[in-house]
Amino acid sequence: MTRQMPVVDYLVIDDGPPHLAGHRCDECGAVYLERRNACAACGARTFSPTRLPATGRIESFTIVHRGAPKHVGPFVSVLVRLADGTFVKANLVGVPPEADAVDFGVPVRLVTYAAGTDDDGTEAIAFGFTYDEPTAPAEG
Ligand SMILES: [Zn+2]
Repeated sequence: MTRQMPVVDYLVIDDGPPHLAGHRCDECGAVYLERRNACAACGARTFSPTRLPATGRIESFTIVHRGAPKHVGPFVSVLVRLADGTFVKANLVGVPPEADAVDFGVPVRLVTYAAGTDDDGTEAIAFGFTYDEPTAPAEG
């Protein structure tokens, strides 16, 4: 079986469905994805690990084009407000990188995908968000 490793520390792929893990301030409840020495909101210095919801809404987006020498894109970079209010920046996947295709407030959910494989065969797992389509009713 291929070994997998998340591309960022806060993506958890080996404990149930993939999800993001944050650090919740023990004093005021502010959540940060990256480890901090002190809370930006209240200055407290102790945090507890917290599992973040996999769904949220698009708060803001940018369609990114990068030119030479390493032509990249276009792709859609989104700022997502998760269901618990935590903000996460990521790419929007499965959606055309066109202004008409993206909108504020659209419900999205976390998805993971293989971002490459190293020489040892370890697969890098990245995350993004895609439109959280309602499940189609079963036919019949
Ligand atoms: Zn705090």
